[in-house]
Parts: sequence; structure tokens; C-alpha cells
Amino acid sequence: MLKIKLPHQIEQMKAAGAVSKAALRRAGDLAKPGISTIEIDQAVESLIRSRGGVPTFKGYGGFPASICSSVNEQIVHGIPSPATTLKDGDIVSIDTGATFGGWVGDNAWTFYVGNVSDDVKGLCECARDCLEAAIKEAIPGNRLGDVGAAVQELAEANGYGVVRDYVGHGVGRVMHEDPEVPNYGKRGRGVRLQIGMVIAIEPMITMGTYETKVLNNGWTVVTADGKPAAHYENTVAITKEGPVVLTQDELGPWCPMQGGEKAEP
Ligand code: MG
Repeated sequence: MLKIKLPHQIEQMKAAGAVSKAALRRAGDLAKPGISTIEIDQAVESLIRSRGGVPTFKGYGGFPASICSSVNEQIVHGIPSPATTLKDGDIVSIDTGATFGGWVGDNAWTFYVGNVSDDVKGLCECARDCLEAAIKEAIPGNRLGDVGAAVQELAEANGYGVVRDYVGHGVGRVMHEDPEVPNYGKRGRGVRLQIGMVIAIEPMITMGTYETKVLNNGWTVVTADGKPAAHYENTVAITKEGPVVLTQDELGPWCPMQGGEKAEP
């Protein structure tokens, strides 16, 4: 069932979104060669709790950590570990969710670790552009097919794959509400977007095949061909004024991409 949020509820969701974005920024600041992903997880959990929030992911379906940290060919749902140390040239997709004031904010960003190759940067920049293009489609009267098509058209025009097996979702009192928000589709098809809907738009874009596998830990999703993947996500409200990114703080809705290039749209 679609849950429509009233304007004052969307204002409350902005507070949750700001905590989630601050958590994501902290993760990005820490994503340097030599740090383990469990250290990032612990720092993010501390930040969320210091703001009066709760890490939404911890315990969700049994997930053991506060962030998802997915390195290189890992697409989503990577589990932070003391055994996973970031290396120069890696990319790490970090997903943070914060519950604050009874509402959830959900966002993700792929960060560069040190010096990343130009081809991997190209993948990341395209995935970021896909998110930006999809957000622009999140207006009343459009359909989810318009959102998905915006991602698919841009990714495929640049020779990248669009993951089908995992999709975005409605967000509200809980992390996953209806509807599902695919990153592919046909314009003019699918659920019509209404004022007061809140959705997490989260393109997962791959260098090679869009086929996925799940590792033996039951969580970590990787590309079937082992090639890198990028993942960007914001929680977005559909309003009569247009799309409003709820996962933003005083610095805005985007995180810098290490290396400095194309930090903001
Ligand atoms: Mg999400």
C-alpha cells in the first residue's frame, strides 16, 4: 500500500534525512587507504547515535552492522569487517540509514579510495548522473517508468549495465515501503507519482554485466562477472514544487567524490 506523507511529515523526514546524510559524509571522510570498513561502521554508528538517531540497518532482517560497505565488484549489502581494509584504487559504496523522530532517511554514495582509475571514475560519474536524472523525473503525474527509464537510458548509452535484481523503494516510518522503484523501465508505465510519496532512488550501475550473485554470507551482492559497480541513493519526496531530496544537510544533497572532480551537479 502506498503511504502518502503530509507536508508536516515530509518536514519531519528532512530531519531524519539530515542525520543520514551527515552519517554518509562521515563515512566518505574516512574512506581512505588503510582504514577497515568496520572502523567506518563504528564511526558512523557513533555519529548517528550522537545526533539522537538509531542506525536503521542494524538488525534489519538480521543485518549485523550500521552501514553497508561494498567494495569494488560488490554492489550493495557488503558487511563491514575488520578484515576488509580499503586500498588505494578501490571504490567503496557506502549506504547509511538513520531513524530519527520516527522516520527513516536512506542514502548511499560510492567513494574513491585514493587514486582511482579513469575508467572506474567514469562508471561512478555516470551512476551519479543517473541518480540526478532520475530525481528530475520524480514529479507529480510522472510514472515510475519515467524514473527507471531515465537511469537505464543514460547508463546504457554509456555502455554500462543496470542492476535488475535490486531496486529502490518507498521510505517512511520504516525503510522499505511500497512501491518498488526499478532503475529500468518504460516511460509512461508503472505507478503514477503523487504528491506526498517518498521514494529512495538508488541506481546500481555496473561496468560489465548487470547479473548479480550473493556471497556465502547471505548478504553481500556482487557482480556476476567480478567487474566494478557503483551505487548512489537519495530519499526523495514528490511535492507540488517538484522533487525534494530529503537526505540532505546544511552542505546539500551530494557528497564530494574524492579526487575533487564533479563534486556537485
Ligand atoms: Mg535504499
